[in-house]
Amino acid sequence: MEKININELTFEELEKFIEELGEKKFHAKQIFKWLHRVAVTSFDEMTDISKALREKLEEKAYIIELKVIECQTSKKDGTMKFLIELPDHNAIESVLMKYHHGNTICVSSQVGCKMGCKFCASTKEGWVRSLYASEIEGQLHTVEKYSGEKISNIVYMGIGEPLDNYDNVVKSIRLINYPLGLNIGARHISLSTCGLVPNIYKLAQENIQCTLSISLHAVTDEKRRQTMPIANKYTIKEILDACKEYIRLTGRRISFEYALIYGQNDSKEDALALGKLLRGMIAHVNLIPVNEIKNGIYKKAPEDHIQAFMDTLNSCGVVTTVRRELGSDIDAACGQLRKKYIDKTDEFEDKKYTESSND
Ligand code: SAH
Repeated sequence: MEKININELTFEELEKFIEELGEKKFHAKQIFKWLHRVAVTSFDEMTDISKALREKLEEKAYIIELKVIECQTSKKDGTMKFLIELPDHNAIESVLMKYHHGNTICVSSQVGCKMGCKFCASTKEGWVRSLYASEIEGQLHTVEKYSGEKISNIVYMGIGEPLDNYDNVVKSIRLINYPLGLNIGARHISLSTCGLVPNIYKLAQENIQCTLSISLHAVTDEKRRQTMPIANKYTIKEILDACKEYIRLTGRRISFEYALIYGQNDSKEDALALGKLLRGMIAHVNLIPVNEIKNGIYKKAPEDHIQAFMDTLNSCGVVTTVRRELGSDIDAACGQLRKKYIDKTDEFEDKKYTESSND
């Protein structure tokens, strides 16, 4: 029989599993803490569990461990960008950002991305697979251990589209949220989506109080289609209707991400249209100066455009902030480090191939 990944079990599933091993279910409490709070990497570290039970666990299950392949630290602001290896050797990225209100981790939800947004590096190498819940939570454990820092906030804004990996992402939030585990409140968790409408409605029903961020980036469907293929599937109106339902059911304010691209979506008309679109909604706009990716075609809007855009939105009564550019001296935009890593590995593979074919 194949061993199971024990980190994937919810508390209730773990209780059941322990009972099936012929043991008392109260052990689930101890084991859950070891796995999700202490984040041990072997059963032997579970010192308050009998040797016999540890052996049984070892026989039927395994603990997953992620490895840091590379870590870049920004000299400007201490932001740490991690390239992390999954058990199947795929690589993902996580970023640790230090704010005065606490440490925030940006986690990946998939290996690569299918969404194809033209300005985003994560999508350039295509999509490989979705992450398991334990691989999403594992990024927190790995980064906490490596950095020695405690994480208090999580944003699902790394590689991948979280709502395209719905079940695993929701499960990971519940695991991270669980009192016996990391116990990070859902209000400290933000999930960002390019707008998979049916899953926004589904998420609204989950009774999770996480913040929802929508990657809007344009004010008309026509313009949005120029950079975001998902706009061919769902209109802005459909997204906003889903957001209104999310607000109605959760009482949470929605955050709209708007990457300002020079000459593309940064005019006064765009700002006025955005203000009109969001008028009356419990919303917040986060302006992101577009991060210019390698071989990318988009240029960052100049400082004065960004300021003017924000002023216009504020005058429309829409709460707006500009995202601080953290880690600008490292490859901090999602997907860039992985892309560089893949390019390097490909070069290496090509070189190997050329060398061997020269023999
Ligand atoms: N797939 C999800 C989450 C991942 S990206 C989503 O689309 O929301 C996190 C945020 O960074 C999104 O708002 C995304 O549109 C934005 N983003 C991606 N590439 C960027 C770039 N080069 N510059 C600025 N923002 C970017």
